[in-house]
Amino acid sequence: MTSQIGVTGLAVMGANLARNLARHGHQVVLHNRTQARTDALMAAHGGEGDFVPTTSTEEFVQSLQRPRSILIMVQAGPGTDAVIDELVPLLDEGDIVIDGGNARYQDTQRRTAALAERGLHFVGTGVSGGEEGALNGPSIMPGGSDESYAIVGPMLESIAAVVDGTPCCTHVGTDGAGHFVKMVHNGIEYADMQLIAEAYDLLRHRLGLSPKEIGDVFASWNEGDLDSYLIEITAEVLRHDDAATGKPFVDVVLDQAEQKGTGRWTVQSALDLGVPVSGIAEAVFARALSGHAEQRAAAQKVLPGPQVELDPVEDRDAYIEAVRQALYASKVVAYAQGFDQIAAGAEENGWTVDRGALATIWRGGCIIRARFLDRIRQAFADEPDLTTLLTHDYFRDAVAAAQDGWRRVVTDAARYGIPAPGFASALAYYDGLRAERLPAALIQGLRDFFGAHTYRRVDRDGVFHTLWGDDR
Ligand code: NAP
Repeated sequence: MTSQIGVTGLAVMGANLARNLARHGHQVVLHNRTQARTDALMAAHGGEGDFVPTTSTEEFVQSLQRPRSILIMVQAGPGTDAVIDELVPLLDEGDIVIDGGNARYQDTQRRTAALAERGLHFVGTGVSGGEEGALNGPSIMPGGSDESYAIVGPMLESIAAVVDGTPCCTHVGTDGAGHFVKMVHNGIEYADMQLIAEAYDLLRHRLGLSPKEIGDVFASWNEGDLDSYLIEITAEVLRHDDAATGKPFVDVVLDQAEQKGTGRWTVQSALDLGVPVSGIAEAVFARALSGHAEQRAAAQKVLPGPQVELDPVEDRDAYIEAVRQALYASKVVAYAQGFDQIAAGAEENGWTVDRGALATIWRGGCIIRARFLDRIRQAFADEPDLTTLLTHDYFRDAVAAAQDGWRRVVTDAARYGIPAPGFASALAYYDGLRAERLPAALIQGLRDFFGAHTYRRVDRDGVFHTLWGDDR
């Protein structure tokens, strides 16, 4: 009964988090359903720290100090339930079960309630940063009670990435809050990648640049406002040649983007909450479209594109800058929408989520880490109740400055038939938000006409219905 924390589930994420915990001075008990994984971890890295390998769940639980802290890192869904069911009968009141898998936040709420009935704490925790982050410092988003955070928070903070002296780990809120914000984080990641892909596509097919040249453009963008992990690795991927053929790597990869589900969950939740996360939705749908190989093959044969020649671009650098502006402005929109969803989710579920604290912990460790997030942190520090990021002075001015390039690129994409759903829908969202009058008034009229759904007026309080039949 000496170990501070136990990790069960020693595939890539669990093994690396266990090593990270051990490197930070914690004695870590190890367990995995299949013994071979525990043995492999001990054989390869057993000397790195104070590990206690175990061969059964009973031995695992008995090796832990009380209250026990147990991190589950198994395949999300039924795997997590199976492990919880095995652990719970062996635990004592006050023990803490942490789920660091990519769980649906509703599952986390259910598990929190079930464990609370037995006097146990459940900490649903978002972990971002992939394999490398888990080992060297991820961004960690724990939910759960204050009481449980007081015990596991310092341990999690000790293994998180650190930016400007601040660990990338914050107590997000109760029950499912941690997994909810991790879900939105992943949704934003989808949007980020889609926008990057559109920028690449425009530079390739409008300007005719090679993948290597575009890689250089991304590398230069990484020196400015767009400085981020995803922009940095985009440059690397675009500069990479396939070893087997010598062709640009991007040209030998099948153009069908896959997904594991967190983007789809984000959009499903946004639909329920009524929050227009169009940037994330476009990204999820663009991946879905890319995967419809049969439809694409049929369409390629018969659907005509615009009958226009590509106009030569007079000033290549100016055009590259316009694409950068479209990428930057669309990214601000996607993040603004994601933070709106977090605010709405918090309100719906009774969580107190500090959006500025999230921007702070997403600055390092996670896949969307970026210099840009420090601006978002600052915006919420300036105005904690900010209605939308887009109206904060800094982002308002930055997007206004990017506007001309953004509009030029979206116009060009439409004119030449280059799909840019992320750029175009972000611009439509921006214009929709700032419009003084929206055609929603007409929609209300139609709803009242066919369904007597009533409408409100601009000049009088109350709810109205027009007797349409009588007017005809
Ligand atoms: P994974 O491939 O998702 O899961 C494999 C692990 O789950 C193995 O340890 C496996 O045990 C265990 N497992 C599966 N079903 C089980 C069951 N019914 N009972 C007991 N154990 C079971 O592993 P991973 O990629 O390391 O991810 C772990 C978790 O972290 C997942 O929830 C994932 O979504 C999340 N996550 C992953 C990443 C990433 O970049 N990979 C990032 C953040 C979060 P056996 O060895 O016995 O098969």
